[in-house]
Amino acid sequence: MVDEVECVVVGAGVVGLAIARAEALAGREVVILEAEGQFGTATSARNSEVIHAGIYYPPGSLKARLCVAGRRLLYTYCESRGIAHKRITKLLVACSGDELPKLAAYAETAARNGLTGPDEALRPLTGAEARALEPALACEAAMLSPSTGIIDSHGLMLSYLGEAEGAGAMIAYRAPVDAVARDGAGFRLTVGGEAATEISCRRLINAAGLGAPALARLIGGVEVPRQYYVRGCYFTLAGRSPFGRLIYPMPSHAGLGVHITVDLGGQAKFGPDTEYIEAIDYTVDPARADGFYAEIRRYWPDLPDGALAPGYAGIRPKLQGPADPVRDFVIAGPETHGVPGLVNLFGIESPGLTASLAIAEMVASL
Ligand SMILES: Cc1cc2nc3c(=O)[nH]c(=O)nc-3n(C[C@H](O)[C@H](O)[C@H](O)COP(=O)(O)OP(=O)(O)OC[C@H]3O[C@@H](n4cnc5c(N)ncnc54)[C@H](O)[C@@H]3O)c2cc1C
Repeated sequence: MVDEVECVVVGAGVVGLAIARAEALAGREVVILEAEGQFGTATSARNSEVIHAGIYYPPGSLKARLCVAGRRLLYTYCESRGIAHKRITKLLVACSGDELPKLAAYAETAARNGLTGPDEALRPLTGAEARALEPALACEAAMLSPSTGIIDSHGLMLSYLGEAEGAGAMIAYRAPVDAVARDGAGFRLTVGGEAATEISCRRLINAAGLGAPALARLIGGVEVPRQYYVRGCYFTLAGRSPFGRLIYPMPSHAGLGVHITVDLGGQAKFGPDTEYIEAIDYTVDPARADGFYAEIRRYWPDLPDGALAPGYAGIRPKLQGPADPVRDFVIAGPETHGVPGLVNLFGIESPGLTASLAIAEMVASL
């Protein structure tokens, strides 16, 4: 193990790997430290694998800007590297008359976020027009998002890692960062687990996902926002998907609503719901199915009894409490917190996968 390196990236999720790639391609000597025995086993393995268009986020926010820029970069990246993906498109649906103003407001937000050309602008559809596209759908009206897609996120991470390693980066598994000391103009990290060593670096990127606030507290000297765990459970559908596109109802306070997504293998799943929890726990309680049937039948009334089976769960690293207004990503470099060489990433929930390349560009420039 190298004991002195220019840049350490903590966390080998999709965001940490994208950052490590960008840092290595910028000519920096990079070591990635990952607590688990594999890359991408946490939130990056427990999401919807949707390439988001950039519809929902407040104009000017990091989520809006990095989602739109990241999506454009991601399609080009996937096409040039042969990473499996599909521009499957999506319908955002209003299931009752009182949701129509909300639907119109999202179309306006999307336009303000830059979704304006023929390949990106949301297309308004009447209920009948939406049903002509998706006969199983029940809705009052819909917006078609032409730039929404799905992606093989594992293939993406493998590609980021391969390119980072090709540019000289190294990755260490079972290498949890247990302590950090500020050391002159840099940092000295105590790495536990099998790696059990110390590493010094001048540049430290905290991309530890759910573990980012804990790591930042170890570093000290910076403001660490409160983070909430918000679990999202998925239920899978036995048999063929009733829809060819992704179908999204109106978002809830802490999530995008129980939507249907299809993976590249054609398996349909519903979720994620939202549940504030106290500790990391990926259990999917089968009893949550009741809520799923009710929500899904608003836009797919023919969902048969017994068709849903518990799938998996992911946990959002959310910065907003149950009663708080929506919070943005926090990507804090030296000009924010005053610690030279340190970048902390907090609250990188959805659309972090979509935004990964744009986040990496931003971090590399800090
Ligand atoms: C339910 C759900 C659905 C989502 N759906 C989508 C979607 O469809 N589209 C989209 O764009 N985004 C989606 N997201 C968001 C996306 O999954 C995340 O933004 C992204 O995966 C975050 O990646 P990350 O690298 O920041 O974190 P992670 O993938 O969590 O990686 C962090 C890594 O850090 C490691 N680590 C933690 N602490 C330490 C330490 N002290 N030392 C060493 N290693 C450490 C962990 O083991 C982990 O591997 C979704 C998220 C959730 C929860």
